[in-house]
Amino acid sequence: MINVAILGSTGSIGTSTLDVIARQSERFNAFALTANKNVERLYEQCLQFLPEIAVMVDNASADELQQRLTNNPKTQHIKVFSGCDALDDVASMDQVDYVMAAIVGAAGLSSSLAAARSGKRILLANKESLVMSGDLFMQAVKENGATLLPIDSEHNAIFQSMPEKLNNISANVDTSIDKSTLQNLQESGVEKILLTASGGPFLNKSLDELQSVTPDQACAHPTWEMGRKISVDSATMMNKGLEVIEASWLFNASADDIQVVIHPQSVIHSMVSYSDGSVLAQLGNPDMRTPIAHAMAWPERMNSGVEQLDIFKVAQLNFEKPDFERFVCLKLAYDALRSGGTAPAILNAANEIAVDAFLQEKIAFTQIAQIVQQTIEQLPAVPADSLSVILAADAKARTIADSLCQQAA
Ligand code: NAD
Ligand code: MG
Repeated sequence: MINVAILGSTGSIGTSTLDVIARQSERFNAFALTANKNVERLYEQCLQFLPEIAVMVDNASADELQQRLTNNPKTQHIKVFSGCDALDDVASMDQVDYVMAAIVGAAGLSSSLAAARSGKRILLANKESLVMSGDLFMQAVKENGATLLPIDSEHNAIFQSMPEKLNNISANVDTSIDKSTLQNLQESGVEKILLTASGGPFLNKSLDELQSVTPDQACAHPTWEMGRKISVDSATMMNKGLEVIEASWLFNASADDIQVVIHPQSVIHSMVSYSDGSVLAQLGNPDMRTPIAHAMAWPERMNSGVEQLDIFKVAQLNFEKPDFERFVCLKLAYDALRSGGTAPAILNAANEIAVDAFLQEKIAFTQIAQIVQQTIEQLPAVPADSLSVILAADAKARTIADSLCQQAA
């Protein structure tokens, strides 16, 4: 039995992970479930999956959950912990084999890193950890023999389409591997990574129309159902920008190696193009249970509950180049990747603050990119050589972005 800790079990990825586990219960056990403060959902999940441990970051929510679990003889045995440290503890426990890192935002960094440092198989949905601290994260994976498998559908597709020796992912094979010994993409015949993007709900809206879009419109994604933060990121295409940075760490790629391709059907989840003219792609219905099941079963395959792709129903696949003028956030992310150091962490932090302000209807949709850009301009990037430097940059960027949001409101 493989014990899985699901960090962020009440979210969109967490719920899909539990759906896969329910179908594969003879093989996987939901050992620990964690959430921020959604007591109702975590209680229901505890009732259904009977984990050993439940964590609520919020103290009052943890007390409430404890009471409800104690009142039910079926769930009395479940240990409840609270606070951020409990997330790191769960991610490093000996009994835990796989860690699903599905907390949203920078809040997921510490526990993802704890899983890497403890040599776990990390199923990484929390792209923000790689964006903020890619170098340190990849080092922790390698030094501790962890196995890093991407859950983000595009990266999972790239992983499936890459030559094995290039995947910067499984350190189990050779823990001495480091970036300088990895062959670069071109030497292995890879010409480009083609990272697909749906373009989000506003692909065909004019810049003028974008001024007045609401949070609910931004969260109504045409092909994927996701949490609200990543939905807004998809609408601004910051999500794709963060994914470019994520891909650069996972696959040892430079900004120039990664081409974003708008593909509104979201059927091709990404492609790798080779020097002999081949282009390998991974296709499937847009359902996160596919990458989740892939990463859980890897290198085998198992049933995920996802319907087979009906290629005749799809009928047509379209592709277009992204417009950097309309999707400023995508451009800012490429720039941050090229600047390196703490620039991606600053970009990410400013974006989290601006998206939150937009979701609370304090700023307009188009101000998200402006606030991120101004924060980057006000806060010079420095080398990201330690976690404390990265966290300091994150904190400073949040303060700056916050005051910019207040001025903009
Ligand atoms: P979500 O908002 O649906 O869920 C977030 C989860 O994180 C919840 O369980 C919540 O309780 C927990 N959480 C929130 N704030 C927290 C905090 N401060 N401390 C601890 N836990 C906290 O988000 P989601 O859509 O499931 O996305 C999760 C991650 O996966 C994100 O990094 C996102 O970019 C990535 N991702 C999501 C999808 C998708 O389809 N939803 C696809 C690719 C990547
Ligand atoms: Mg994605």
